[in-house]
Amino acid sequence: MSGASATRGTFGKASVRDADVEGRAVLLRADLNVPLDDGRITDDARIRAALPTIELLRDRGARTIVVSHLGRPDGVDPALSMAPVAARLGELLDADVAVASAVVGEDVASEVAELGAGEVLMLENSRFEAGETENDPELAQRLAALADVFVNDAFGAAHRAHATTEGVAHHLPAYAGLLLEREVRELTAVRDDPERPLCVALGGAKVSDKIGPLSAFVDRADRILIGGAMCFSFFRAQGKDTGDSLVEEEGVTMAARVLASAEDARAQIELPVDLVIAERFDADAEPRALDSVEVPDGWIGLDIGPRTAAAYAEAIGEAGTVFWNGPMGAFELPPFAAGTRAVAEAVAEAPGTTVVGGGDSAAALAEFGLVDSVDWLSTGGGASLELMEGRDLPGVEALRDREDT
Ligand code: ADP
Ligand code: MG
Repeated sequence: MSGASATRGTFGKASVRDADVEGRAVLLRADLNVPLDDGRITDDARIRAALPTIELLRDRGARTIVVSHLGRPDGVDPALSMAPVAARLGELLDADVAVASAVVGEDVASEVAELGAGEVLMLENSRFEAGETENDPELAQRLAALADVFVNDAFGAAHRAHATTEGVAHHLPAYAGLLLEREVRELTAVRDDPERPLCVALGGAKVSDKIGPLSAFVDRADRILIGGAMCFSFFRAQGKDTGDSLVEEEGVTMAARVLASAEDARAQIELPVDLVIAERFDADAEPRALDSVEVPDGWIGLDIGPRTAAAYAEAIGEAGTVFWNGPMGAFELPPFAAGTRAVAEAVAEAPGTTVVGGGDSAAALAEFGLVDSVDWLSTGGGASLELMEGRDLPGVEALRDREDT
């Protein structure tokens, strides 16, 4: 890691730092979509990441109304109430954080009216309202009616045009939160102005989510290291045997296109040269080292092999900038974690600027105790990939431009 400061990248949107919030009701969209197990929060990283903006608003005497989605409820679902999230936020702030009776409505308006300067109220799960994901203009207006100012700090949801991330921004003076701003700056710097060589390591299972970013990196990056299930789309496109490995048809089409254009591409595409395979996707499955990439029938490729891991680690160490998204193998299963661990350790030790995105990549870093050894760990999986691909994020676009403030 380079230990670079917080000032990388550019950002053209108005910041919460420049908003006049004293005594005003501020609707703050945060990404508090934490993992729950039987109603208990198993990882509070997203709540912690939202603290700087909430603390700034409290210090400045705002009446803060926090809103987030949690999980994927279909209508009102008490199991996905924001109550445990509000309780944890209250502990972290050392303050009371009440939960509103609903997302919008007259009762909520009275609860907001009771809110004093520096106090925090949390609205119920935004997805209890069907209009949230439909970006319903009426819901956006009802949300806006609760507040004087809107702040969006939910980078992880900024690629979605929903009522709380996009619609409401058209009805109130709309500012970027501190986390959202930092995310956009860090990722934009990697995309538009990286210290070269730019080395991108891409893995994971959801190949179809990574087609767009991969196609964009072919002309932006200098080296692309392919791991995870994605490599099997490439091997299939090359006519190799992939056995029972995870292969997405969409991924094969993309891989064929990338391989066909490889000659003219800026990036050198690197594929595994060895694998770890097993007969089942299971922690008890007997792992077998395969010193090639031809997977026999009945076998599944579940990790990159040691020669590949060493080559990828070396490439990462030589990079001016590293962007890593997606584990190199099924790292949740100990026999198949070595490739992801090697890449994570290489990223942690790399002298270049290191940026990591993706929920499972973040989980891998956490498991290996390496979270603090990267320059920037994005809280947004899909959002970070869409930004890297060069797409506009609706939740960012809808905010005020900087010069309007
Ligand atoms: P991220 O959340 O970092 O973007 P993804 O969600 O795309 O990553 O993928 C993470 C998942 O990919 C992990 O659960 C891991 O088990 C799985 N995975 C990685 N490599 C393989 C593989 N070769 N076969 C099956 N699953 C894999
Ligand atoms: Mg994931």
